[in-house]
Amino acid sequence: MHKDVVIVGAGPAGIFTALEMLKKGSRQKILIVEKGRAVEERRCPKNKTGQCVSCRPYCHITTGFSGAGAFSDGKLSLSYEVGGDLPSLIGAEKAQETIDYADKIYLEFGADSHVEGLGNTEEVKAIRKRAIRAGLKLVDCPIRHLGTEKAQDLYYAIEQYLLQDGKLELNMVYASCRDDELERMSEQEKAELETHFQCSLYSDFDIALEDIFSGLLP
Ligand SMILES: Cc1cc2nc3c(=O)[nH]c(=O)nc-3n(C[C@H](O)[C@H](O)[C@H](O)COP(=O)(O)OP(=O)(O)OC[C@H]3O[C@@H](n4cnc5c(N)ncnc54)[C@H](O)[C@@H]3O)c2cc1C
Repeated sequence: MHKDVVIVGAGPAGIFTALEMLKKGSRQKILIVEKGRAVEERRCPKNKTGQCVSCRPYCHITTGFSGAGAFSDGKLSLSYEVGGDLPSLIGAEKAQETIDYADKIYLEFGADSHVEGLGNTEEVKAIRKRAIRAGLKLVDCPIRHLGTEKAQDLYYAIEQYLLQDGKLELNMVYASCRDDELERMSEQEKAELETHFQCSLYSDFDIALEDIFSGLLP
């Protein structure tokens, strides 16, 4: 089996890496390995049970295509002044450029164009004054609100784009069986499991789960 790039994890980091490679016209054979399920197959039992049942072998909230934020209401803070260490690592200007760039991709895949928190209203001015008096800095941060179900729809659109778009050079491999299901299976049932996948564009690009998990992932 030959692959040029393996991306481990289909969270936003992995997804945007793949999107960026495709956008830049990469002809490399890309494989995304994701231990969870496709976004449309992710289900949290809490919706029915009312409480967390500690799913094994992994939590569907944090695991699967689109990663940890799939079931959140998806708030994207669009200012470099909010968030992690990016501005100190690459500079404020570049950080803002990068945020705007990523935001544009979300828009391309159907995010609501409305942005909250833009108006510098009298109310905001009053809060700012109070903040200054208290020795605090009020950060004006525009926020794009995807919405819980909308976030899943949006990631589904990205997933379909990565899997089905004509210029696809990428194969997605999902663990098709849970560990505890595997343990209960007979040898014959195990033998019938689909563990080989073929790239739609390269017929010689055959991907076997055992190759991936034995060599790459401890
Ligand atoms: C409840 C909740 C609400 C959130 N709300 C927001 C929000 O409103 N706005 C916001 O900006 N952020 C929010 N976040 C944070 C956001 O989800 C994370 O910052 C983001 O998901 C991080 O992306 P990532 O790709 O780095 O990691 P992750 O999203 O964690 O993705 C990692 C992926 O890798 C997979 N994986 C891990 N190990 C392996 C392995 N060995 N083999 C194969 N696959 C593997 C996992 O299954 C997962 O899909 C929220 C997070 C949570 C949990």
